[in-house]
Amino acid sequence: SDVFCLHLTDEAATVEMGRRLSNAVKAGAVLFLNGDLGAGKTTLSRGIVQGLGHNGKVKSPTYTLVEPYELDDVSIYHFDLYRLGDPEELEYMGIRDYFAEQAICIVEWPEKGVGFIPTPDLSIEMAYEDQQRCITITAKSARGEKIISSLG
Ligand code: ADP
Ligand code: MG
Repeated sequence: SDVFCLHLTDEAATVEMGRRLSNAVKAGAVLFLNGDLGAGKTTLSRGIVQGLGHNGKVKSPTYTLVEPYELDDVSIYHFDLYRLGDPEELEYMGIRDYFAEQAICIVEWPEKGVGFIPTPDLSIEMAYEDQQRCITITAKSARGEKIISSLG
């Protein structure tokens, strides 16, 4: 499948990459964000969410598990499953409804929810490169390949 790899020199570059993604994603897309603590997953999410039209802050959903953004054109659900104990908790919070809608779902630490969340369209890996970061984007579906091919 298509792989897209890029070096990100600073925080602003990570936000800008998120904005590029926001211009390419369509409703219904599921994005998994993998990578260590501090690798830049929430920073990238901020670029995506603000790029889609949210004007306020984008806070980390570390303690709430999910942060919803109901925009005019689309709903975005930003998950951070780092603190999820038992993935069955996702059933109780109605995880299916979030993914069933024509929403854009961004999931940090998706490995914590395996078996309870759908497979992604894009698998995005953030990694440290000295003081900077590196991003690898892999398409996991036809929709994901479309997103990569329309990245400006
Ligand atoms: P995560 O959500 O993966 O835990 P964050 O997005 O919260 O990580 O980012 C952690 C830190 O990394 C922040 O201080 C952010 O400014 C910084 N950061 C993000 N992108 C870069 C980059 N390309 N180069 C250097 N620092 C970055
Ligand atoms: Mg985070």
